[in-house]
Amino acid sequence: MVGIVIVSHSKQLAEGVRELAAQMVQGKVPLAIAAGIDDPENPLGTDAMQVYEAIASVYSDEGVVILMDLGSALMSAEMAVEFLTMEQKQKVHLCEAPLVEGAVAAAVAAASGSSIQQVMAEARGSLTAKAIQLGVNTSPSFVSSQGQTTNDTGQTTKEIHVTIRNRLGLHARPASKFVSTAARFQSQILVSNLTRRTEAVRADSINQVATLVARQGHQLAIAATGTDADEALSALQELVESNFGEQETPHSPLPTPHSLLPTPYSPPHFIQGIPASSGIAIAQVFLHTANPIDVQQYHVDDVETEWQRLRVAIQISKEEIQSLLSQACTQIGDAEAAIFDAHLLFLEDPVLLEAVHQRIFRQHQNAEASWQAVIEELVNNYRTFEDPYLQERVADIVDVEQRVLRLLTGFQSHIRTSDSSPDNLNPSEPAILIAADLSPSETARLDPTKVLGICTTNGSAISHSAIIARRLGIPAIVGLPEEVMHLSNDAIAALDGDSGRMWVNPESDVLNALEVKRNTQQAVHHEGLATVFSPAVTRDGRQIDVFANITGITDTEEALRFGAEGVGLFRTEFLYMERIAPPSEEEQELIYLSVAQQLGNRPLIIRTLDVGGDKPISYLNLLSENNSFLGWRGIRYCLDNPEIFKPQLRAILKASPEHQMKIMFPMVATVEEIQAAKAMLAEVQSELHQAGIPFDEKMEVGIMVEVPSAVMIADKLAAEVDFFSIGTNDLSQYVMAADRTHPLVANLVDAFHPAVLRMIQQTVQAARTAGIWVGLCGELASDPLATPLLLGLGLNEVSLNPRSIPAFKQAIAQLTGDQAEAIAASALQQDSAEKVRALLSREWGVGSRE
Ligand code: PEP
Ligand code: MG
Repeated sequence: MVGIVIVSHSKQLAEGVRELAAQMVQGKVPLAIAAGIDDPENPLGTDAMQVYEAIASVYSDEGVVILMDLGSALMSAEMAVEFLTMEQKQKVHLCEAPLVEGAVAAAVAAASGSSIQQVMAEARGSLTAKAIQLGVNTSPSFVSSQGQTTNDTGQTTKEIHVTIRNRLGLHARPASKFVSTAARFQSQILVSNLTRRTEAVRADSINQVATLVARQGHQLAIAATGTDADEALSALQELVESNFGEQETPHSPLPTPHSLLPTPYSPPHFIQGIPASSGIAIAQVFLHTANPIDVQQYHVDDVETEWQRLRVAIQISKEEIQSLLSQACTQIGDAEAAIFDAHLLFLEDPVLLEAVHQRIFRQHQNAEASWQAVIEELVNNYRTFEDPYLQERVADIVDVEQRVLRLLTGFQSHIRTSDSSPDNLNPSEPAILIAADLSPSETARLDPTKVLGICTTNGSAISHSAIIARRLGIPAIVGLPEEVMHLSNDAIAALDGDSGRMWVNPESDVLNALEVKRNTQQAVHHEGLATVFSPAVTRDGRQIDVFANITGITDTEEALRFGAEGVGLFRTEFLYMERIAPPSEEEQELIYLSVAQQLGNRPLIIRTLDVGGDKPISYLNLLSENNSFLGWRGIRYCLDNPEIFKPQLRAILKASPEHQMKIMFPMVATVEEIQAAKAMLAEVQSELHQAGIPFDEKMEVGIMVEVPSAVMIADKLAAEVDFFSIGTNDLSQYVMAADRTHPLVANLVDAFHPAVLRMIQQTVQAARTAGIWVGLCGELASDPLATPLLLGLGLNEVSLNPRSIPAFKQAIAQLTGDQAEAIAASALQQDSAEKVRALLSREWGVGSRE
């Protein structure tokens, strides 16, 4: 988060400003002051060393904004910046904004996770509302002559003229580069198109720069006012003169709107995707594309909260776009992905944000209506230009507009009502949902009586969305070709979630075959249900505990119905999704308690928050990472955020008395991490002791073994904990170095691979030697083909999707312990996942995939 330093001659003044700003953001933003001097006789003054220390106390890679009052405050601040390293200097900015309004606006922007440029822009624009109320015009005036002029306040403006040489002029990508370069500097920069004799516009506004319609051969005037005007102008000049880094390739036509139109779709016999959730579904197609959102306008009294709502929605949109950008870079190349750069800049456009800010603050309009109105004005403005590039940009603007509106309207339904918001994911009549992608929380919202099947073009079988689809019992195929997005809603689709095949308007012979398969599956399922409440015992009397993976209270009842003997994995992160703040300690305590009560005296393993990877939670201020699975996730995030972690630990402990609750930490990679997690747990325990609050003092503590390093040091980790649970979903992706959500590498993320099986074996060995029990809760356990492996490798417990429990128990009842051990030993000697599957089918005969 961006830090803020307030420099003032008066300590009292600085403290007052800090108090005001901190109050607006409930103390969430790092704010430091450097004010007054150590002279009782004459305490008014500023000291560069103090400023330096204040910067150091709030410094992070996100940067620091310094706001100051008069005269020598600026000098002290400049001197303090001189003490910083080169790298730090890049991230510390002096801001000329007014001290009080600027500090408050900067703090609010920083609290919503804005970039340093955005925080500066907010601080600078902080007088706008006041100026408008007083009828003062704040638009910048333009300097028209090349060279240097000085304004009434003594500030010097420097101006240069440059000629655009690249073939397509300032189209999306160069315009983005131009704007982001301008935004790097503190100076105010204006630009006009001399050839078209346009008004000067702000160079840090993507929308205003676009309206210059600057084409090849046009001359621009760029004027900069401020301390770094020279640097700004030379950076912009260099950018323009280097043709914005573009290679001139005369034969690289941009996609025309026509080429983006859906092509008529003629299906082959069947379309092959990746099987993600078992079962057959036949129904009409329901294509999910983002619908325009219906926005209501209403009066708001609490304008600050309204503005905050918008800021949060913008921030989440930026995170979503950022992740699209990284995906697009790898999948379609940098040049095409640059369109998302423009989307990001659009959301940071200070002129646009100022206009929305005014509507909210002056007209007391709600955020969504203000946002929509300002964008409509902008779109109308674009439409007045008969320029094909600007016309194409309208589609981008509407795209970004809808993204923010979707978030705003979603939030609103959460804030106002507790019932589920109307959404466009669940069709009114039963159908097969076709979408580009579904997030885990969207999948969790699906109604299985309406969504009979899911087909997506993205995703993989062990993404969290696929796991949820299986839990809901909805057949699903992922990784289908793009063309399915062009199907019409009149089409009938049939899908087989076991083979990953999809048919469009299938012939009657296909339909008959699928019906037969469906009936057989249902019969097997019912057979399994008959013995579901018996323990899982082999023919020779060996027993394995069979637990369920759940995400909340509602799954618990289902888990018990399918014969779960306990819960082996409660994925608590789902309690944090689809909301705007974490569940409170009390709310969590109630949920844990009610799951435990439903389970009676059966074990309940609660996994602490495993955020990150493919489970982003916007308000937790996760970073936008290139490799989110290798980044700040699970225990790494929790240890760094005790204010999130400790309430969860407290809630678990408080719910624990008289229940068989155990705690499990995810993503542990080192001994230090488990020691730190245990230390935090001990801290919470001692706080509860002091407060006289009872908890289960003997509660078992375990870890997920899902990172290769944890397997390699399993002996060391075993000395720290009471149990292990092997997470083969993550373990497979990390062992095979293949993203578990990436359809193109989905074949690599395979827990049947001997490399993964050997990791399981090593972990079991280490647990046995240390005398602790070991379970497995990855999706491998839900595949009946894997049953002999799990038994043969010596696991004490497995935890699986509730619906897979009957088949697992049936499979165990057909095996003997010796047979399973022989199969597992031989599987470990194979050299591919394919050969392991072939071995299992041969020796064991239950085929899970076609
Ligand atoms: C795993 O990684 O195998 C696991 C069970 O955890 P999750 O799928 O929630 O990451
Ligand atoms: Mg995991």
